[in-house]
Amino acid sequence: MATSRRPGPIGPQFPFNFGAPCQPPGPLGIFDLHWYADSPGPLGINDWAACVADPFAFPTSASTCACNRDITIEELCKCYPHAKKARNQEFLDGLNKTFKDSSITTCLRKAHFLAQVGAESGELHYVAEILPKGVTEEKAYKGYKGRGLIQLTGKDNYTNFGLFEKQDFLGANRVKIEEPEWAAKSAGWYWTSGKKNHDLNDLADKNDFLAICCLVNGAFIGFDDRLEHLKLARDALGVAGCTTANVGKQVYKVYVDSDIHDSWLFSFAWGCWNDATSKKKGIAKPVVTERKAGYQRYLDLRVPIEAAAAAKPKPKHPPLHPKAPERHYGYTLEQMSKMAREGVK
Ligand SMILES: [Zn+2]
Repeated sequence: MATSRRPGPIGPQFPFNFGAPCQPPGPLGIFDLHWYADSPGPLGINDWAACVADPFAFPTSASTCACNRDITIEELCKCYPHAKKARNQEFLDGLNKTFKDSSITTCLRKAHFLAQVGAESGELHYVAEILPKGVTEEKAYKGYKGRGLIQLTGKDNYTNFGLFEKQDFLGANRVKIEEPEWAAKSAGWYWTSGKKNHDLNDLADKNDFLAICCLVNGAFIGFDDRLEHLKLARDALGVAGCTTANVGKQVYKVYVDSDIHDSWLFSFAWGCWNDATSKKKGIAKPVVTERKAGYQRYLDLRVPIEAAAAAKPKPKHPPLHPKAPERHYGYTLEQMSKMAREGVK
């Protein structure tokens, strides 16, 4: 346990920096690395070699979870039971590379990532969006429809992903994103960088499935499917037995504890998707208490905003162009507030 032999950036024992924090720092934080760096014990020279080759691959004999290691084909098949084994095999390497490239290191991060990918791609079946008949890619998305395992969409995203990978994904090259490795890596890029201020790994660490759904989907379309895949992936990757995930039996963080509880928009969405009268697709069995909670929170957050806007002095002249009403999920703000007032009853 002594830290005296902790190798520095260029340590005397090993030219590797074991002091670099492992992601995410949890119970297996810096001290575990010290321990590892300092106690060969039952771990022979080959264990050292394995650790050196991949600093995240320290053996976790006490746990069978998928933290800090590649996932196996058997595990991927359990995550995506409807996909043929050959299809899972085709994507396995790309997914494991993506885990390394995008710091999807822990079993819980992998489970959340694979849950969203499973739903977005139909268990690796789709690597490109299917457009309705008669709708062209040019017309619908100015040439850049959804591609890859989380449906990277729009020229900006294709451009930025290309810059990140030092690849050209524009023009005719855009179909490269349908190849297994780029399909997986594009999803990894979106996971950490596609949402500017949000690294979805942080939300995965908090087990905040609702917030991840909102950042991937914009709301809760396909919620049941995403949740089913989260459960499959958690079981397949041993999250319940993980010593760092610390989520207990909680499948995901409930609404009142989720980051979306601070968002009027996503709170509305939670109410709306749990509102049987809205007919939004995704939650087959809407929950009345969740509907009320989402709508009530929307009202609590929204009312002060509206009051502040109403208190502003009116401009002397009407605007030359009438401002189009702001719409979300097909509703104007007025309609949203009306729905919420009804829905909390
Ligand atoms: Zn784990």
